[in-house]
Amino acid sequence: MLPASKTYGGLIDRLGLGKASLVFAGISAAIVAVVLLSPQWLAPLIPSSVERELGDALVGDFGGRFCDTPKGKAALAKLTRSLDDNPQDLQVEVANIDMLNAVALPGGKVLLFQGLLSQAKSPDEVAGVLAHEIGHVRERHVMQGLLRQMGLAVVLGGFDGSGGSTINSLLSTTYTRDSEREADDHSLKALKQANISPVGAADFFNRLASMDGSRDLKDRQARTMASYTSSHPLSDERRKLFENAVVKGSAYKPALTADEWQELKTMCAQDKDVKAGWGFDIE
Ligand SMILES: [Zn+2]
Repeated sequence: MLPASKTYGGLIDRLGLGKASLVFAGISAAIVAVVLLSPQWLAPLIPSSVERELGDALVGDFGGRFCDTPKGKAALAKLTRSLDDNPQDLQVEVANIDMLNAVALPGGKVLLFQGLLSQAKSPDEVAGVLAHEIGHVRERHVMQGLLRQMGLAVVLGGFDGSGGSTINSLLSTTYTRDSEREADDHSLKALKQANISPVGAADFFNRLASMDGSRDLKDRQARTMASYTSSHPLSDERRKLFENAVVKGSAYKPALTADEWQELKTMCAQDKDVKAGWGFDIE
């Protein structure tokens, strides 16, 4: 007449502890698998409008560090137009930070860092890098990378969107090898369509690779910290890909005129209001 004795609670008692443990282990494993595998199929499902809002919320005006002069912006807009058919979906900015880097961020934002412009020897070099980053945007890699890096929290809005840690995570987002290849392919196609020589990009990757090969570990760490080489493995294969894309006898045009290139390169120096430096406690 008495009810059966209860040890753990309804479901576990009914199944028995051993079986119940197996069931819960299975459920946990399924959840972990979904979180790990979801970026590939989840990222393309996120509407562009949501991604745009997320980008605005995460990046904002980058703490006032976007450089702005009429002629510099015009040169940057021209370069972007030549590399992409729908430049109105993109927001390309030069960030006043002396770091050799460029990143694609959610919502079609692409940042070129001033350090990259100072190191670049020609607008063709910048064109190759910019087209690569646009490739990450167009192939929808950005949300994939973020989802892998931060998990679903980034979409559900459950993480603290302020301060240095978010910026650090954004800048240290890496892509898979396949994504990098896709972005390189995108870059080569865009350069070809714009009639810009891929030699510039090849030279640039070559120089980065030789810098990265420094034996002085401390130097190397300082240089590669949050830099282009830390997020973009520079293989010989990659440099050759760009070198081999050169079509002999082509009448390539420089990506920008000498004047435009000068305006773009010196935009941050000419902008009197722009905030300088890092200041996002990067470690
Ligand atoms: Zn990349």
